[in-house]
Amino acid sequence: MDMARPWHLYVVEDDPALREMLTTYLEKQGLAVTAMASAEEMLQRLHRLRPDLVVLDVGLPGLNGLQACQRLRAEGDRLPVILLTARSEEIDRILGLELGADDYLSKPFSARELLARVHAVLRRTASTPGAPPDKGSSVRIGEWTFDIASRCLQRGGQLRLLGGVEYALLAELVLNPGVVVSRERLVAASHTRDSSVLPRAVDAAVMRLRKLLEPDPALPRYLQTVRGQGYMFIPFRPALAAA
Ligand code: CA
Repeated sequence: MDMARPWHLYVVEDDPALREMLTTYLEKQGLAVTAMASAEEMLQRLHRLRPDLVVLDVGLPGLNGLQACQRLRAEGDRLPVILLTARSEEIDRILGLELGADDYLSKPFSARELLARVHAVLRRTASTPGAPPDKGSSVRIGEWTFDIASRCLQRGGQLRLLGGVEYALLAELVLNPGVVVSRERLVAASHTRDSSVLPRAVDAAVMRLRKLLEPDPALPRYLQTVRGQGYMFIPFRPALAAA
């Protein structure tokens, strides 16, 4: 793991001046920033390059920040979110936190204040940059919770202990959310001392995992095939109707 990698933030703000100012400031503070003007763009980009945290304006055209945050949480995505709003009514603050935001800033605020909040939320929610889950984590996959260390999948009172290949694959995929993991790498991850695994066995194990985890195994949401490249774990539903 590259400990030197800076924290990566999305800044989602439709006001170009404010977006520019925040981006410049946060980059000067050593953070990597991807700036964008709409929540739709954020949701579409998330599964390609996942940030460590999102600074999300509430007052956006199209899908607003509260709706976008609610959608992430409804999909089981715990990506840290700090909401920005022009309104300072208590009701917005409460609503934002109820919808699963990690923190909330009312405009006007200073960039420095935002930076302090960003660091506080990152300290609270993550272990190291670039490593959303680690081997001690539990990861939500739809209705299931996957406890990586204990090899268990849990849903309500149901418990499933994963076997060798399935476990190795799922762990490798969820430890790299939003990243295409090649079949070769999955084959390597599934090898044990006593047995080697064929690419076909990897495909078959992915099918079995989909049957277990996906609401519709024929249209996978969480364990996606990237044609000609491999597989990718998407920790939330990526598809949004084109805006
Ligand atoms: Ca706005």
